[in-house]
Amino acid sequence: MIIIMRPNTSEMDIENVVNTLKSLGLGVHISKGVEKTIIGIIGDKRVLEEVPLDLMPGVEKLVPVVESYKLASKAFHPEPSIIDVNGVKIGGAELVLMAGPCSVENREQIIETAIAVKKSGAKFLRGGTFKPRTSPYSFQGLEEEGLKLLKEAKEITGLLIISEITSEKTLEIAYKYVDMVQIGARNSQNFQLLKEVGRSKKPVLYKRGPSMTIEEWLNATEYIMSEGNENVVLCERGIRTFETATRYTMDISAISVIKSLSHLPIIVDPSHATGKSQYVQSLSKAAVAAGADGLIIEVHPNPMRALSDASQQITPFEFDNLCSDIYKIAPIVGRDFKYNQNHSQL
Ligand code: PEP
Ligand code: MN
Repeated sequence: MIIIMRPNTSEMDIENVVNTLKSLGLGVHISKGVEKTIIGIIGDKRVLEEVPLDLMPGVEKLVPVVESYKLASKAFHPEPSIIDVNGVKIGGAELVLMAGPCSVENREQIIETAIAVKKSGAKFLRGGTFKPRTSPYSFQGLEEEGLKLLKEAKEITGLLIISEITSEKTLEIAYKYVDMVQIGARNSQNFQLLKEVGRSKKPVLYKRGPSMTIEEWLNATEYIMSEGNENVVLCERGIRTFETATRYTMDISAISVIKSLSHLPIIVDPSHATGKSQYVQSLSKAAVAAGADGLIIEVHPNPMRALSDASQQITPFEFDNLCSDIYKIAPIVGRDFKYNQNHSQL
């Protein structure tokens, strides 16, 4: 249930309602819009049966929320959320691009990629160091050594760092190196880990699991948010369908559906969605045109020799071409994107 307060209600009336709810043992989430304040109620509503909340000063109306997710829902927070990750705003007018290799492999590879993607307009450097590979015999990542290399790349380029964590322990290790953690498809319903990330308050890119419905995804998001972390950005990365021509199927409709159900930003990962580098550019553009708040793209200086996901990584040159196209599309969909046409200094 949400309580919609009358336009320009006094702080005292809002406080009164909040205190009444808290005294009944309910959780409260306040969203202040330009005119109206919305108070979201979390907990067992049965305690409200005898309380005439609608008669309290300042209350305009009570509206039931049918969805089981609350903090992620648009009903609780009608304005779109802008997530500020150390100065880079995701969900605002500017499209945010995250780029880098699937895995951090060595110093030269990550620094070279970072310098290149920064020149084209990326704001985040991505790179896996704890790799949740399908086979235990495949390259498992450089772990903390890889995080140190990402930090060095940040110092050189100024790019923010995003990297995947796979457990409570890896969250603890990555915490001091990264600006944003990524929860990947394989851990998308690891509720314990979602809660840990919620308690950590670290901004999180939360990827959809390949078999999750959007409703399941938003419910799982609630595990992060209900622990006090509202710095969540969602990421569509392809779902499992009967189609085998691509690795997964990029659910482009998820962008519009999320925008209608949630206030959280959504970005798209066309690399894992398609699994094939030849489709990454067109699907990136489609995602931007459909209203995505950004993209996360795998870029490797020599994709053929990549230690993971070789077939889906694009080169820095291809990434640059893509950025040049996004620069042209962005204004058509009311977005800004700063493509560095002259490739001047960092
Ligand atoms: C990744 O980003 O490298 C990754 C493993 O992605 P996903 O969890 O979407 O498969
Ligand atoms: Mn990958």
